[in-house]
Amino acid sequence: MKQFQFRYNGAAALGRELRKIRQWSRSRMTSAAVFQIFTAVMDPEQIRKICGRISEEIPEALYMGCSSNGNILEGTLESDNICITCTVFEYASTQVKMLQYPISDAKVDATMQALHEELEANPWVRAIELLVTIRGMSMTKFCDRLQAEREDIAVFGGGAFAADIDNNAAWVFSSAGPCTDNAVVFLLMGGDDLHVRTTHITGWKPLGKAFHVTRAEGSTLYELDGRAAYEAYYKYLNIKNNEHFFFNSLEFPFYLEHNGMKILRAPIASNPDGSLTMTSNIDENVTAHLAYGDPWTILNSVRVDGQVIRDYMPEVIHIYSCAARRTFWGDSDIGKESMPFEHIAPTSGFYTSSEFLRTDGKMNQHNVTMVVAALREGEGSGETSSFFDVDTDEYSGKVSLITRLAKFIDAATEELEEANRKLVQMAVTDGLTGLYNRKEIQRMISERLESGKPMTLIMMDIDNFKSVNDTYGHNEGDRVIASLSELLRHGITEHNPDGAAGRWGGEEFMLMLPYPLEYAQLAAEDIRKDFAAIAFPYAGHRTISLGVTQAIPGESSDALLVRVDKALYEAKRTGKNKYIVY
Ligand code: GH3
Ligand code: MG
Ligand code: MG
Repeated sequence: MKQFQFRYNGAAALGRELRKIRQWSRSRMTSAAVFQIFTAVMDPEQIRKICGRISEEIPEALYMGCSSNGNILEGTLESDNICITCTVFEYASTQVKMLQYPISDAKVDATMQALHEELEANPWVRAIELLVTIRGMSMTKFCDRLQAEREDIAVFGGGAFAADIDNNAAWVFSSAGPCTDNAVVFLLMGGDDLHVRTTHITGWKPLGKAFHVTRAEGSTLYELDGRAAYEAYYKYLNIKNNEHFFFNSLEFPFYLEHNGMKILRAPIASNPDGSLTMTSNIDENVTAHLAYGDPWTILNSVRVDGQVIRDYMPEVIHIYSCAARRTFWGDSDIGKESMPFEHIAPTSGFYTSSEFLRTDGKMNQHNVTMVVAALREGEGSGETSSFFDVDTDEYSGKVSLITRLAKFIDAATEELEEANRKLVQMAVTDGLTGLYNRKEIQRMISERLESGKPMTLIMMDIDNFKSVNDTYGHNEGDRVIASLSELLRHGITEHNPDGAAGRWGGEEFMLMLPYPLEYAQLAAEDIRKDFAAIAFPYAGHRTISLGVTQAIPGESSDALLVRVDKALYEAKRTGKNKYIVY
């Protein structure tokens, strides 16, 4: 595999480059040539001319390309131009095929079906490189269908973009279809000697507070912690809901779980109702953090993942990197995270609107991520990877500031969350006994009643308790109360995660048990006996009376509570130290 890389410098220069490639190819055995044309110049007419020229000079060559937010050539950013690479495959076994299909919400099914049929018909395929126009479209189905394809097929690629990040125009084109603003281009690559290894690098880290995704539907993120999702950007980052929202929020994507892995996902728009339109599906009930980047952490990630790529000894590296990364670094520094790869192998690509990558079989649409694909034919020479280093020194000063501030936020958030957990705990707990307080056990009873699951209540009251207080003092009275609480906690609720014990008032307690009456009766009798067996230092042996009743589906919690209270009253009235079932 050999790659030629050059900037487009007018028709005459293009002609010279093409003739050079043609001569090189014809002087040896080659199996295919694939051109990639990435353009940060929004001029489709010029692209048509370039494609026409390629077809004239090398009719058998395939080509694919798209509009971009900047190109990567020789490992560095090329803005405001058109960059062309030509990969020449040298092994006879290597096969390639170019496909282009329309893409839209209505057409995605037919398109993915057509791809599926191609993959069935071409079992040699080992990798798919894709370019796609995505703006304004949910790519969930697209990803799901790719994920369903043969597990050993690597998939990677990028979303077309515009030179101006706020511009909605984006188009793709290929030797299999015209230059259009709604299409996907697939390059199928394969054969026994073609090897592809992919990875994704972010370096972005979750920041501080955890949000809970309480409402999401498709690619619309409605609510975090029960509040409009947009508020997270406004309240915590002061990003306003205006025409710059996309640009401003891009550097602070959400860090959340999807497909069993942590990914970054950015909103593409904020809506009048406070919801956010995301690039792809968001799952409900996952934890999301806002994420931030800092140069030192990012370059360290490049170092770690880059070494894996180096050891693979590729001949060509393709990078699909998010436009947000370019915004984050700025044009003078963005090369720092891509240039190290050029020392491994010729590195090209572009700045995308989304990065696509299949990882462990799962197909993901990423944001703010750098997808790196390493390609080679044959076993790797061992010579290509002599040098690989990432210069992080320069950033250690700056980094300390950002990482220390982020650390401060994380530590302070953790402290507050811990304090919050304690407050919540206190608000539902009775101080003397550590059991739930009346309000909480009442709430739990109502909740269980609404769920329709079986429930039996046991209400109990210590017999002749006034006399304990009066004869032995309040402290002994407290001890008796605490002992009964302990008995309830250990004897009942610890063995029943769905059960709960609460202090109803003074020396009255309520047990909520998640099973039918017959078992609850046995429990009531056990509690009665166990309590009667305790010998208090002064008060000696004491007894309790209990009322037992089972919830009737559909009844009100008031009706249920009145019944259990009556059962307890009846136990008292008929002699105490017993349980009565109603
Ligand atoms: P009965 O068998 O009919 O239940 O008679 P009793 O004496 O237990 O009567 P009752 O249930 O009405 O008495 C409750 C007493 O419990 C009144 C109150 O002084 C006492 N008490 C309530 N809360 C506490 C507490 O937290 N600690 C102590 N030591 N006593 C309490
Ligand atoms: Mg009592
Ligand atoms: Mg009482």
